Amino acid sequence: MPKSYITHLECSLTGKRDYAAGAVHNLSEAGRPLLSRYNLESLKSDVSKEEVWARPGGFWKWRELLPVQEDRNVLSLGEVETPLTRLDKAAAIFGHKGELIVKDEGHLPTASFKARGLSVAVSMAKELGLTRLAMPTNGNAGAALAAYAGRADLETFIFCPDDTPHINVEEAALLGAKIWRVNGYIDDCGHIVADGIEKMGWFNLSTLKEPYRLEGKKTMAFEFAAQFGWELPDVVFFPTGGGTALIAMWKAFDEMEALGWIGSKRPKMVAVQAAGCAPLAKAFEEGERFATRWENAYTRAAGIRVPQAVGDFLVLDALRASGGKGIAIEEDEIFDAQAAVGSSEGYMVCPEAAACFVALQRGVNDGWVAPTDKVLIINSGNGLKYDMPDSAGTLDVSQPIDFDGLL
Ligand SMILES: *Cc1c(COP(=O)(O)O)cnc(C)c1O
Repeated sequence: MPKSYITHLECSLTGKRDYAAGAVHNLSEAGRPLLSRYNLESLKSDVSKEEVWARPGGFWKWRELLPVQEDRNVLSLGEVETPLTRLDKAAAIFGHKGELIVKDEGHLPTASFKARGLSVAVSMAKELGLTRLAMPTNGNAGAALAAYAGRADLETFIFCPDDTPHINVEEAALLGAKIWRVNGYIDDCGHIVADGIEKMGWFNLSTLKEPYRLEGKKTMAFEFAAQFGWELPDVVFFPTGGGTALIAMWKAFDEMEALGWIGSKRPKMVAVQAAGCAPLAKAFEEGERFATRWENAYTRAAGIRVPQAVGDFLVLDALRASGGKGIAIEEDEIFDAQAAVGSSEGYMVCPEAAACFVALQRGVNDGWVAPTDKVLIINSGNGLKYDMPDSAGTLDVSQPIDFDGLL
């Protein structure tokens, strides 16, 4: 396989550049995320987008734009290109006259887009010789970490809020991780990880507190750009928790433009949060560049229950530069939307992504989504990982069946 074109990393806040590739990193000296940089000039003349896109398989095809150097460190569990599906009936329900397309990240290993980030981050951990990893999670990231670390025989400690969807907790344990339920939020779990570094000798894989999960998540944007014929959609809705995916997509757009793979057009980026935990949407509305911690966070859309994000300013900068916005959706609207999409289209979205359909409706009503806009919603994970309403009836086989009663 081709080699990585990574050159160095730099601080996302100060731009300080002297962070070496191929070294163990967490945050920059300024306490902010590090961004990986590549020799895009050379890559541009060495390989075409068509050549890369024609490679078989999933996100590891973007190898030149990922940090892993050696083939033997690449951890793969059969990743695929995730499908785009047009949802015309859902578009009508939520009032959008143009195209509505959903990208289903539930097709990845461990059934969420977290596989992209953790596959790359754990491969890098292996390359860097780390053997013990720790991470806070709301569920999907923990499962993905357990899977890829299990494959690499790395020891894994995972901490999650005690109301994390139980399937994810059981999944991570079955895949070999040591996992604990904590009576707090994801940032409380993050403090346990940080506090244990010295005593436990583990590496902190918290999102954006190590640089390579971002790089993996970035492949989602390469992939949909190619799927759309290298013409980006007009609006992208993403259910936003820590914001890594949104930051990663924005970074991927810049890299693709520098490579001449796409032009300067950018989608409006819309960060969708739950009304019970909306620190980024609130900071957006208030014109702030940094968000304050959201107290008493609540939403059953676990993946977006993140009270405080270390990459807040990167999300908010991208939303503003794109002409998009941050938006908060009420809890009951989220679950009504999930049911509406499911029953009208036969399409299962996770609660986090369901919030995006309501956000689309807002955009249509308020005029920031135009009738001609091509809209992309990312279904960030498989809805089957969450408890679902059970409205099945029951029948007694010892009694005659009342068929009229089934109608
Ligand atoms: C993690 C997660 C999100 C949020 O992603 P960020 O990159 O943290 O913003 C959204 N949806 C699901 C299903 C998730 O697991």
